[in-house]
Amino acid sequence: MSVKEVKLLSDGYFNIDMGLLVYGKTKYYGKVYKAALKPLLIVCNDEYILVDTGIGILPERVRKFYTLDKSKDLATSLRESGFSVDDISVVISTHLHLDHVGNNALFKNAKFFAQREEIEYSKKPHRFQKQAYLKEYLDRVDYKPISGKKEIVEGVWTIPTPGHTPGHQSILVKGKETYVYCGDVCPLKENYEMRNIVGVLHNPVNALESIDKLKKLGGHPVFSHDNEQMKLKV
Ligand SMILES: [Zn+2]
Repeated sequence: MSVKEVKLLSDGYFNIDMGLLVYGKTKYYGKVYKAALKPLLIVCNDEYILVDTGIGILPERVRKFYTLDKSKDLATSLRESGFSVDDISVVISTHLHLDHVGNNALFKNAKFFAQREEIEYSKKPHRFQKQAYLKEYLDRVDYKPISGKKEIVEGVWTIPTPGHTPGHQSILVKGKETYVYCGDVCPLKENYEMRNIVGVLHNPVNALESIDKLKKLGGHPVFSHDNEQMKLKV
């Protein structure tokens, strides 16, 4: 078996309106949620894989728009797990929004993967998604494009799950246990359990189909920003 260990790391927290995490629920409007930033470490026989890299250190021009708690950062979180940034050989991005690619530049020895559609979209997003893609973060690394479902390393698959963004993907990990890293298809448990789509959308119909696709896969779902699920239950 290639996958030896799967672990949630932390890059701290950022405050976000709950209306952006769950679509169309007026009771959530104006309610601030302390969203966790949760890259996933997958230790395989020959590769050390990271799924998403958190929010990083925001450039000055956008910093004022975010309230962050960086009492923990990704490099420290990795170190506490017994690894260094240089160990990471593969980074898979669920999508290229700034809160998922912020620490990319730390991983000098890694190959980077994202869906081709997402890479293209990040260069020319619609105006309603523009502020989520940061040129400063994306110009630093060279992404290898993937098209559709692909096994990146034995036991680690990318599953296209558009809706939040056009080229969003989720990650299926099969080791002793099966995990599905949902990404922003399901930032919270509620999105998964209640089939409530995320509030930031490119296409709501695709977003709902993507939730159903993930539920069909089975396994333990991992939510990208849920601050109650900070460890993987086995
Ligand atoms: Zn996100």
